[in-house]
Amino acid sequence: MKNIAVIGAGTMGNGIAHTFAQSAYNVALIDLQESSLEKGLATIDKNLDRMIAKEKISTDDKAAILGRIKTYTSIAEGVKNADLVVEAATENVDLKLKIFADLDKMTSAETVLATNTSSISITKIAAATGRPDKVIGMHFMNPVPIMKLVEVIRGYATSDACTSVVMELSEKLGKIPVEVND
Ligand code: NAD
Repeated sequence: MKNIAVIGAGTMGNGIAHTFAQSAYNVALIDLQESSLEKGLATIDKNLDRMIAKEKISTDDKAAILGRIKTYTSIAEGVKNADLVVEAATENVDLKLKIFADLDKMTSAETVLATNTSSISITKIAAATGRPDKVIGMHFMNPVPIMKLVEVIRGYATSDACTSVVMELSEKLGKIPVEVND
């Protein structure tokens, strides 16, 4: 996996984008409006400055991390080359079902579709797609760049292969993934 799309640039989305970009993944950060994207990027910028102050990264690292994040107001454009989509939009079941039905049409059949939902059934979200074996929960904790735990949530039809890929990917981000049932 190389190209990651993140839907939603709010509290969780900007942290997820930051975390992937810091681990050298290319990130497409997607939100409805330019203003939300600008706010998300400003938060990432501020959090990277904090890491520089703590000598965890250098100013060159910061430039490289920001250089790996591109922003989009169109989901179709942002997910075009995605190997993985992490959906972190507003917690609303109808919204998420619509996003996943759209993602199923907009992404390659191989793309893994993950959601950061805190309360909605992964099985239900997966059923909005024609690839429930490749739909999974990737539940990051706030603040994402700092918190180590990622709950990797299997839906009823999530495949072993998809789960393994997401567990390994979470480890590559420096996280501690824990596999849990829906
Ligand atoms: P938030 O309100 O801060 O951000 C949500 C963002 O999604 C907003 O910027 C909004 O404009 C955008 N959005 C809404 N509809 C969209 C669409 N159709 N396309 C693109 N962007 C869209 O919310 P948050 O706190 O970041 O939560 C996001 C998800 O993460 C939710 O599912 C929530 O349950 C989950 N979560 C939140 C926390 C937390 O502590 N805040 C922790 C774990 C998981």
